Amino acid sequence: RSKANAHNGYRVYQEQMSEGFSAYLTLGGGLRKAIEEGQFELYYQPKIRSSDEVTVGAEALIRWHHPEKGMIPPDQFIPVAEESGLILPLGEWVIRKACEQLKTWQDQGLPPINLSVNLSGRQFLQPDLVEVVQQILLETGIDPNLLELELTESMLMSDAHGTIKKLHDFREMGITLSIDDFGTGYSSLAYLKKFPIQALKIDRSFIQDLGIDGDDDAIVKATIAMAQSLNLKVIAEGVESRQQMNLLTDYECQEVQGYLFAKPMCCDDFEKYLETFTQIVPPIEG
Ligand code: C2E
Ligand code: MG
Ligand code: MG
Ligand code: MG
Repeated sequence: RSKANAHNGYRVYQEQMSEGFSAYLTLGGGLRKAIEEGQFELYYQPKIRSSDEVTVGAEALIRWHHPEKGMIPPDQFIPVAEESGLILPLGEWVIRKACEQLKTWQDQGLPPINLSVNLSGRQFLQPDLVEVVQQILLETGIDPNLLELELTESMLMSDAHGTIKKLHDFREMGITLSIDDFGTGYSSLAYLKKFPIQALKIDRSFIQDLGIDGDDDAIVKATIAMAQSLNLKVIAEGVESRQQMNLLTDYECQEVQGYLFAKPMCCDDFEKYLETFTQIVPPIEG
């Protein structure tokens, strides 16, 4: 029996390994070419201010238009890019593209919005990341206050000294820092207080059952309350229903992102969207 199990375990392991390996071969091989040939595109998902539901920012989300496989979602190729090291040129492309886009919107006279970019673990460990970002800011000439970098808890937990230095460098440049997928890692808010960050994005998994699972309500409420007392802005990810939105407004969550308002959009669609949803709403009289 134990022999059979061992054998079975080995086979499962082999299958998983070869599955991962073949994904690596098929996607990893194509990635280098995809970078050279420009098969990537940034999509933009609006960030909505809860108090008046005005769009105040967006998150840039990468898409890969594979010539044979069609659109490949980032969850499938970012890990492959990390593994192969191609995340460095790819991640740099994302930051540059996002900054160029901010510049274009500024030149078009659109209302200024904040744009956030996701960093991956290996990219964050890149020794010259600060210089790379600095160079892109110089080249594009955008206001660094409009750029936000999304980090994850695990990035902050790894090499604490170098991490804090990098974060302070970004802050000195005027860049906003936020923690993505908050609540899925092992860090506490008290621990995060050591880092110069400005915002927390509560992971979608806590928002999904808001109003259904009392535990999630308690977690979200407590996170928002504690973040407020630490002067951190809170953004809820993955808001899909009006009920979730109403609860988040009750809990005083400042900003939300989710399908209730808009899915990530290609640049053209996002520009059309912006014309309608960023108008400054006059304060209510009385
Ligand atoms: P993330 O940074 O947490 O981004 C949010 C993800 O949730 C996006 O998936 C978005 O499309 C999705 N989402 C937003 N609102 C809703 C909603 O109401 N319901 C549901 N079900 N989903 C919603 P996407 O674009 O597939 O990206 C997945 C992840 O891939 C991102 O998670 C991020 O970690 C990573 N990623 C995306 N773009 C980049 C990038 O340029 N660089 C790096 N390093 N990672 C990226
Ligand atoms: Mg994100
Ligand atoms: Mg993320
Ligand atoms: Mg997230």
